Amino acid sequence: MTDQNPNDKALYPPVPAFSTALKGRCPRCGEGNLFAGVLSVSQSCANCRLSFDFEDSGDGPTVFVMLIVGLVVVGSAVYVEFVHQPPLWLHFVLWPPLLFGFGLWVLRVTKALLIVLQYQNNAHEGELATPPASKSPAVPNSSNDRDAD
Ligand SMILES: [Zn+2]
Repeated sequence: MTDQNPNDKALYPPVPAFSTALKGRCPRCGEGNLFAGVLSVSQSCANCRLSFDFEDSGDGPTVFVMLIVGLVVVGSAVYVEFVHQPPLWLHFVLWPPLLFGFGLWVLRVTKALLIVLQYQNNAHEGELATPPASKSPAVPNSSNDRDAD
């Protein structure tokens, strides 16, 4: 599934999660780029060859973007409206670039943070444990016996 090796810590000391995520670096070595583009994750680290196949941040970063960016941008817009009362066109000029730019940056950082934390905590999708095959004795149905009486 992954290239994670329990001996990683001998070769690669743990990297700080938040600064690694802010820089968009590899969760193992902290040097190679985690992203191939703005938001697309690379196949593997160019520095330590760690495969990023384990990466599955899912919808997690989106939740943080909605909460953080929504709070900051809407809070700022409400504050500016009530304190300075600018014309409406200024709202249309001011908030959409901030919304998309800040949202993209928060999305990239939270995605990197979740991938780094996923690697450091060896987190993966939950699996159901299969019970061992047991030979349970058949339980006789005693309700039919009572009905016969
Ligand atoms: Zn690396």
